[in-house]
Amino acid sequence: MTIARPTRLLTQNRRLRAIGVWNWTLPAWAGRMPDGRTYNTCPSAGICRDLCYARVGTYRFPAVKAKHEANLAFVIDDLAGWEQAMLAELAHPRFAGRWVRVHDSGDFFSDDYLTAWLRIFRARPGSNFYCYTKEVRRFRRLVEPDPPPNFRWTFSYGGTQDHLIDQNHDRVADVFPDSAAITEAGFASQEVCDTIAATGPPRIGLPANRIPHLMARQGPVRFSELQAAADRRRARRRPVAQEERRAA
Ligand code: SF4
Repeated sequence: MTIARPTRLLTQNRRLRAIGVWNWTLPAWAGRMPDGRTYNTCPSAGICRDLCYARVGTYRFPAVKAKHEANLAFVIDDLAGWEQAMLAELAHPRFAGRWVRVHDSGDFFSDDYLTAWLRIFRARPGSNFYCYTKEVRRFRRLVEPDPPPNFRWTFSYGGTQDHLIDQNHDRVADVFPDSAAITEAGFASQEVCDTIAATGPPRIGLPANRIPHLMARQGPVRFSELQAAADRRRARRRPVAQEERRAA
């Protein structure tokens, strides 16, 4: 089964259109494409995968899911062709001086894919790009030594590499149970404008989406706290597992 290539790569939902931002996105986390191939676009997702806004609601609508999977198939099947198509699209005057958010859902799932984006940022200096990412190690290796001047990134908590984030030097984002908790923690709220992740203060708070079963699952704590608790549980289990392997 052939997956049709998307005709347009960059889109706008209502929220981003209101602030003039364009968006490229992939399907969230793991799934199976119509041709049977499996994927994982968020290899460093931690507790966020069980609280992911992009795995429920409109993101599950067949047309939306198909569009995101067509985007991913293009990247996987023909990275060089996708890069050329993205460059061609970004050459249009409507992107001049604009912000492009890389990923509404999904993440930089491989070195090759991130490196392709870095080439695109440099080749289109008239546009600006930003992202949230949980790929801390990949960014330390591939982006931080020589970052493109028109690219901003924010490390978002809730991933398996949270422990590598340095709140004193990195731009960070955390998901809070509500707006009041964001203010109380002294973070700037992303509700003001999504590009605050690129241009605002270095600590950004996102209120949990108003999805009842996800809100109940998150409870009164932040993603960073849930991930730290999960990390501690894993660390406690690890010596037991090692002991069991030795005894086997
Ligand atoms: S990294 Fe983002 S898109 Fe992926 S599972 Fe986590 S919250 Fe969802």
